[in-house]
Amino acid sequence: MKILVLNSGSSTVKFRVYNVEEGDALREIASGVVERIGEGVSTVEYKSVRGELKYTVKVKDHGEALQHILKVLCDAEKGVISNPDEITGVGHRVVHGGEMRESSIIDERVEKVIEEYARMAPLHNPANLLGIRAAKSVFPHAIHVAVFDTAFHSTIPEEAYLYAIPYKFYVKYRIRRYGFHGISHSYVARKAAEILGEPLEKLKLITCHLGSGASVAAIMYGRSVETSMGLTPLEGLIMGTRCGDIDPSIFYFLMKWEKLSEDEVYDLLNKKSGLLGLSEVSNDVRTLLQASSEGDKRAERALNAFAHRVKKYIGAYMAVMNGADAIVLTAGIGERSPTMREKILRGLENLGIILDAKKNERPEDYGGVISSDDSKVKILVIPTNEELAISEETLRLIRGRASKDNSY
Ligand code: ADP
Repeated sequence: MKILVLNSGSSTVKFRVYNVEEGDALREIASGVVERIGEGVSTVEYKSVRGELKYTVKVKDHGEALQHILKVLCDAEKGVISNPDEITGVGHRVVHGGEMRESSIIDERVEKVIEEYARMAPLHNPANLLGIRAAKSVFPHAIHVAVFDTAFHSTIPEEAYLYAIPYKFYVKYRIRRYGFHGISHSYVARKAAEILGEPLEKLKLITCHLGSGASVAAIMYGRSVETSMGLTPLEGLIMGTRCGDIDPSIFYFLMKWEKLSEDEVYDLLNKKSGLLGLSEVSNDVRTLLQASSEGDKRAERALNAFAHRVKKYIGAYMAVMNGADAIVLTAGIGERSPTMREKILRGLENLGIILDAKKNERPEDYGGVISSDDSKVKILVIPTNEELAISEETLRLIRGRASKDNSY
């Protein structure tokens, strides 16, 4: 059986194909991306166990992008399937699933939810939906599954998800904390349990997904109980271009003093703030680390503010859970920057968090464990793999449906 995973953005579609092997282990056999959809000249890049392909072509929309994905997957020499029906399931990453508690086989009701929550995720959900509709027509016999970035956080209790604005707005608009990166947080939490050799149901974990988007989650006994992103992915940590937590009055004053419209302020907070806005150098941590090492104070202040914010959330979530067994770092910055890990985790000894400087330089040599032996709270570096997690969820739902069908 083969499973295709799709991550559809507004101008890109990323894809991966997994083969289901014995014991339901998933092996990646192909991956690729169609970029700059609708922008004149697009690129199609593809890599499989049988070779690579790369070409430029005009790709008008997501429908055409999916046609190209099918074409490369069926390539006589380098393809991994011979017709679309060999794809049993398609797992779609969907950013905002509202109050959906779980991944779901996509039917009309699920499409409606994705459409409804597009108002809160205007950069993501419409593109996700385009990908779903295009894939349904290219792979009509496959089972299509939506895996939501929000679903894992649906266990967050009311006191943590409510905002202190008039309650009627929660009732009327569903304004509440949803949280995102749930696919990644739940994946690394499961991996952490494996590394620690303890059942997930017995662990208190703080998972830090630190990429260009960034969030922290408190995971208590396998369930998310707090997370830093909110109604949208704008809240919480300082990110590449997103501001994270700010006093909401700033929105009001910027509109008033700079004579900006609400759309302009929203854009400024999403795309011109964060590390980029603070440093006025770059949104990219690698670039900022380089600049800072050459004495650029602007880059340094942005990185320090980023690290401070993560540290603050770690402390808060230790309070929420009355301690933690481990802190997990993942995504680009968490996985690959010893300097940023050190900035975030130094000075936490009194909370029982002690980083081992040597292990921090090469986590892979220590099974990902970078805390010192006497650290009460373990520190783990775990590479995330959201596509694999989506394919596992898709397989689980396909299996669930098959066993239901058999029971009739
Ligand atoms: P996304 O998938 O959300 O675009 P990633 O998880 O790839 O993000 O993370 C991107 C961030 O990780 C960027 O800020 C990038 O500079 C940073 N990053 C990647 N590799 C390194 C590295 N070796 N050292 C420091 N930062 C890194």
